[in-house]
Amino acid sequence: MKVTAAEFVRATSTPGDFPKDSFAQLAFAGRSNVGKSTLINCLLRQKNLARVSSHPGKTRTVNFILINRKFYLVDLPGYGYAKVSQAERQRWQELVESFLLNNQQLRGLVHLIDSRRGATDMDLELLEFSAQAQLPVLVVATKTDQLNQSEKRKQSEQINCQLAPLMLPEFIPFSAKTGLGRIEVWRWLENQLSK
Ligand code: GDP
Repeated sequence: MKVTAAEFVRATSTPGDFPKDSFAQLAFAGRSNVGKSTLINCLLRQKNLARVSSHPGKTRTVNFILINRKFYLVDLPGYGYAKVSQAERQRWQELVESFLLNNQQLRGLVHLIDSRRGATDMDLELLEFSAQAQLPVLVVATKTDQLNQSEKRKQSEQINCQLAPLMLPEFIPFSAKTGLGRIEVWRWLENQLSK
């Protein structure tokens, strides 16, 4: 995909303010600090269009980035930050679920998990939710540059075991540092757009 224009259009925590135009949407989810902003910036070859969060857990908006005036990349708020209150967790859940459900423009969800940790309980909950909503999902394992070869093999086995019941396509190992997986993620996104 040649990105000729990437515009930050909207950040909102109010479902009523989600864009109502007919552009397709592709969303990104994951726990706080998983490397979501970094991955989006890497896809777009931009430094800080998606903010790299200095305060994990602080970004609670759904962020819409319009690409080539044709489709949105949608950055969903991160989750799983320990210091977040129960009420905030509830708000996160309502916001994300209202985005994922009844969204005619949504073509797919890229779900990021940290390759060093594997999928957390909250990751698995959201993956199950997406499966039930029959949403196409691509799992991307981030920060693979931080693992050595034997750790990569071990983590890859663990992640495959965790994902096996969900019948998902094979996960993509990714590193913003080396660019590993960038082409594969774009390929999946383009494929979802062409459906
Ligand atoms: P977000 O909260 O999910 O948006 O996470 P960020 O994109 O802000 O990244 C969290 C931290 O992980 C930052 O310090 C990034 O520099 C770092 N990070 C993100 N991606 C990678 C990667 O591929 N490799 C390495 N080594 N660090 C990364």
